[in-house]
Amino acid sequence: MSELMEKSFEKGGIYLVSPQLSMCSHVGHGFFTRQGGVSKGIFESLNFRYTGGDNENDIKRNYTIAAETIGGKYDDIVRTCQLHTDKIEVVREREGGFRQVGRPDGCDAIITNVPGVVLAAFYADCQMIMLYDKKQHAIAAVHAGWRGVANGILAKTIRKMGEEYGTQPKNIIAAVSPSICRRCFETDDDVKEILFEIYEDQVPDYFYREGNKWHIDLKMLTYSSLIRTGVLPYNIDLSSRCTRCGDPELYWSHRRTGNERGVHAGMIMLKP
Ligand SMILES: [Zn+2]
Repeated sequence: MSELMEKSFEKGGIYLVSPQLSMCSHVGHGFFTRQGGVSKGIFESLNFRYTGGDNENDIKRNYTIAAETIGGKYDDIVRTCQLHTDKIEVVREREGGFRQVGRPDGCDAIITNVPGVVLAAFYADCQMIMLYDKKQHAIAAVHAGWRGVANGILAKTIRKMGEEYGTQPKNIIAAVSPSICRRCFETDDDVKEILFEIYEDQVPDYFYREGNKWHIDLKMLTYSSLIRTGVLPYNIDLSSRCTRCGDPELYWSHRRTGNERGVHAGMIMLKP
């Protein structure tokens, strides 16, 4: 397991990459921070969120910047409709233009084996997870907050890649975005009960109690769910950075600012 690395845009600002995915010549990818875009104010600068009131032309420009940074095109972006579901969409063709899949019921994971398609999912405390099957050349973009950790979206996505592409977990490289850390992720008994039932057999200090709140380590629960599915430990890159207590110049956090914020994207593509 290793950390994500910083990379710089030509015009300044940083984004993050997985060391292992960076070594895969067939893959373009990036975990984006607030830097490198054109939005203003609370959306400064690389915002991908349409529902917060940001200027739509600026958002379009941000999508273009991000797609081109990883070697893709705006018109090839396919994005999630994130509603904390366990629904997975399969992209079978490149044509279709910039689009959102899974509306209106939501889809929190997208998979494809079509080169050129840029998969995008979003985070701002939640996690964005990229998967790459280095044998069958298939990719996934997954969104998982605590509900996604509870509903097993990651394991279901890997199973779906198995059905569609013959993916075996041992051939998967996984990379996990910055997300809320366990010190910042406070919950009540209800959330803890749901997750504890699934992960009770895991290392107990993924859960700890402070005052009348529970603290839960979503990063390590995601790591555990990857390992349980059969992904190999050395094929997982996971960011320890926290969107809430990390640098506010780099990250938006739903817990820090509520809805007054933009959202980060992670994008992955197979190079044509
Ligand atoms: Zn934190």
